[in-house]
Amino acid sequence: AKAKGRNTHEYFNKALNKDSTHRSMLEQDIYKALKRNEFYLLYQPIWSIDGQKIESVEALIRWLHPERGTVYPLEFIPLAEESALIHSIGEWVISEACEFAKRLSLKATVAPKVCINISSSQFLRGNMVELLSQELSKHELEGSSLVIEITESILLLDQDNIYAQLETIVSQGIDIAVDDFGTGYSSLSYLKKYPVQRLKIDKSFIDDLEENKEDQALVSGILSLASSLSLKTVVEGVETQAQLELLRQYGSPMIQGYLLAKPMTEDLLITLLAEKAPK
Ligand code: C2E
Ligand code: CA
Ligand code: CA
Ligand code: CA
Repeated sequence: AKAKGRNTHEYFNKALNKDSTHRSMLEQDIYKALKRNEFYLLYQPIWSIDGQKIESVEALIRWLHPERGTVYPLEFIPLAEESALIHSIGEWVISEACEFAKRLSLKATVAPKVCINISSSQFLRGNMVELLSQELSKHELEGSSLVIEITESILLLDQDNIYAQLETIVSQGIDIAVDDFGTGYSSLSYLKKYPVQRLKIDKSFIDDLEENKEDQALVSGILSLASSLSLKTVVEGVETQAQLELLRQYGSPMIQGYLLAKPMTEDLLITLLAEKAPK
């Protein structure tokens, strides 16, 4: 199993490293995977800081490759983003996540929101508004059951059309979250300019939180800034109790990370929600 894992890794690395033969093989593989239904979603809970409530869940794509086993998104999403494949994958993810949100709304006493990752290139195509409203009406879902996670890079493009798309999406009750916050060339002014409701503070600020005074200053600063702008904040990649304690002191409203739960299947999530439901 270990050898298989290493070979798989090499295969995808070669493709990502612009080896054209491997690239086109991987592209064909992705194309087939869509047709053969080899993609699936896992869901990772996002918790209130007290660990009592699952406020939302993030949909994270996986690929069960017939020969290579589980393939992680960083091994194929970057390549897909360079071609039209990202649009097909993206549409599949939105549709699957909405079906899941519908089931959740029927099964859970209090259904958490479902957070969907959207690539910048997917957003730039300009049909996101239509796609989302189609899926909402198809599944008779409220917009408020979804969160769209985008990266800072899209906001830095500063295009009128991005602004208009976000406005329309938000007007349907969907929240917009800025993912990996703090890792790009952030210009805080976009938080004022664009209709954004949430920030996700990147894991790289959390890894050394206990030792690193600068990270502490940054994280507590971002948290208080976000709170004064009425933005909801999620801190990503929380792995230790000590990190959680610091984040509690800084007033972080929500956290996500292996400490509380890893990405899991729909069935496990439903079980967890039933255990957590107020009696
Ligand atoms: P992301 O959106 O920043 O997602 C968070 C990643 O961190 C996920 O990795 C998650 O499994 C991982 N993670 C969560 N908590 C912890 C923790 O405590 N420790 C550690 N070490 N890791 C943690 P994953 O699932 O491998 O996804 C990687 C990236 O791939 C995502 O980063 C996102 O950018 C992209 N991605 C995933 N699913 C999709 C999708 O459906 N569409 C698009 N366009 N991109 C996706
Ligand atoms: Ca994300
Ligand atoms: Ca992130
Ligand atoms: Ca990330």
